[in-house]
Amino acid sequence: MLLSGKTAVISGAASLRGIGLCTARLFADHGARIAILDLDEGAARNAADTLGGEGHIGLACDVTDKPACEAAVRSVLDAFGRIDVLVNNAGITQPVKFLDIAPENYDAVMDVSLRGTLYLSQAAIPAMRAQRAGSIVCMSSVSAQRGGGIFGGPHYSAAKAGVLGLAKAMAREFGPDNIRVNSVTPGLIQTDITAGRLTDTMRADILKGIPLNRLGDAADVAGVCLFLASDLSSYLTGTAIDVNGGMLI
Ligand code: NAD
Repeated sequence: MLLSGKTAVISGAASLRGIGLCTARLFADHGARIAILDLDEGAARNAADTLGGEGHIGLACDVTDKPACEAAVRSVLDAFGRIDVLVNNAGITQPVKFLDIAPENYDAVMDVSLRGTLYLSQAAIPAMRAQRAGSIVCMSSVSAQRGGGIFGGPHYSAAKAGVLGLAKAMAREFGPDNIRVNSVTPGLIQTDITAGRLTDTMRADILKGIPLNRLGDAADVAGVCLFLASDLSSYLTGTAIDVNGGMLI
């Protein structure tokens, strides 16, 4: 039990096949109480009900909305009294080519990944600071490192590269408060973001570039989030861990 007695807030965690809910399940199995945040309150509550253990909550929170992030964190603190772990997981992608990116495409993708990470972290950090302990995990992507993903457009690459910078800046500023901030850079993980978009030919082509010869599962990413959330990684901050089957070797 790596998170016994701890509480964790995970954004974008209502999607049934998603990385967020899989991470929530693993954290709950390791003894944490979980607050699932997502756009739809019913979906967030239902997702919380699927977790093992007791006392989990699901809340509506659009992470692009600063007052909504502040209200969600207040509700979590009312329910749990503390926030030990924050996973900034919410993200959206759009398969739009560079010359076709419209202002609304840019804003939507940037807002969820970057404003979301900023606003939710801003809301949670004062409580972590008061506790003099906390771990924040930010979800970036191999798209940030490769300058392009399989499904994400260039604005997605830029947003996820921005997440890496924001996480490092937070790590630097809040290290003295014993708040660690790290990122995860997943490769191609089979979730709703990828479901239905992958033809057999695309899959075969992609696998040629992955030494482990398989796509990732949400559980592959959840395990790394658990490591970063727990004291196993107590001397790690400002780093990013690749979870991509060797795609960048
Ligand atoms: P998913 O679509 O299954 O889950 C994303 C969740 O975010 C959904 O539940 C959605 O409702 C929620 N969300 C969207 N906008 C939101 C907002 N404004 N406020 C709150 N919640 C919002 O996707 P996933 O594959 O599980 O992705 C999780 C994270 O991992 C994302 O940040 C994604 O960019 C990143 N990622 C995924 C892959 C992959 O291959 N699946 C690879 C690299 C990085």
